[in-house]
Amino acid sequence: MADRQYEIAVVGAGPAGLTAALYAGRAMKRTLLLEAGLPGGELLNTEAIEDYPGFASITGPELASKMTEHALSFGAELVTARVVSITPQDDGWHRIEVEEQDPFFARAVILTAGGQPRKLGIPGEQEFAGRGVSYCAVCDGAFFRGEHLAVVGGGDAALEEAAFLTRYASKVTVIHRRGDFRAQTLLVERARQNPKLEFLMDSVVEEIVGDQNRVVSLRLRRVPDGMQSDFPVGGVFIFVGFIPNTGLLTVHADHDPQGYYLTDANMQTSVPGIFAAGDVRAQLTRQVTTAVGDGTTAAIAATKYVEEGAAEPQLAGAIS
Ligand code: NAP
Repeated sequence: MADRQYEIAVVGAGPAGLTAALYAGRAMKRTLLLEAGLPGGELLNTEAIEDYPGFASITGPELASKMTEHALSFGAELVTARVVSITPQDDGWHRIEVEEQDPFFARAVILTAGGQPRKLGIPGEQEFAGRGVSYCAVCDGAFFRGEHLAVVGGGDAALEEAAFLTRYASKVTVIHRRGDFRAQTLLVERARQNPKLEFLMDSVVEEIVGDQNRVVSLRLRRVPDGMQSDFPVGGVFIFVGFIPNTGLLTVHADHDPQGYYLTDANMQTSVPGIFAAGDVRAQLTRQVTTAVGDGTTAAIAATKYVEEGAAEPQLAGAIS
């Protein structure tokens, strides 16, 4: 049993989790890093990162590999396992159930499990997933050489991924439900200058239409007048946000209406000893830089929690 007991367990090895593991390891805490797949999280689905200080441009997988090597160099143990539940026990340990292995136990848990792409929930989406419907440009873009593609969404991800897809596609049409983009101005300006990108604003995709094998068109509705039309495409990439992986805790932790955990300034959730960092946490933006900042704070606070016992909630800006 003792070999499955850790001072700190980190659930999810994206940038937040890798950073938390690095700091927990540096603090000489026995640290477990649980990840169902390869370490790197969303970095593995991102081609180029241009907004991580110190790297003018680096590929997502390269940054993931560097972060993993660095995190593990301070002693955190990476275990490949899918976590199914986390339960705080009366004795101060948290029981972490995983698939196909005995449970692990930890004094403090840092939740960094990221999220899943949000689905549109329209006819044809599920039916043609992998046959013209995709949620990952880096993974699937190369299958669409010379095709006219659609990207659905108006946030940072939609515009970045649409630009990435222009290297394969003959043309990429970004379809957004409003007249204004949610994405950063820099990305919007860059997208507008890309000759292979065009934009269909105020338009909603109502159905993804295919023949027996693959997507052939989108059924669109123009928002101002409700006019419907068919829009022929070779494939559709959907980037309409994502849903946080916050279903692992078996007890209630406070969250916002979208399901993101609410934390104090120490990244502690409303459950003592359970911390949250990165994309599972309610915050203004979800960047690699904010994820690593969250991971740092969470690991330092979790270390304090393990060493000193239950910590008082810390309000942002409070002086202790
Ligand atoms: P996001 O910022 O939440 O944007 C989602 C977009 O999808 C919005 O434009 C939204 O429209 C649209 N949308 C949502 N549900 C829809 C539906 N059912 N039908 C049609 N459109 C729908 O999500 P994201 O772009 O995935 O970004 C997530 C986070 O990652 C953000 O914090 C972002 O800043 C960050 N990120 C950053 C970068 C970068 O900095 N380089 C790159 C990627 C992601 P409305 O605008 O009308 O709500």
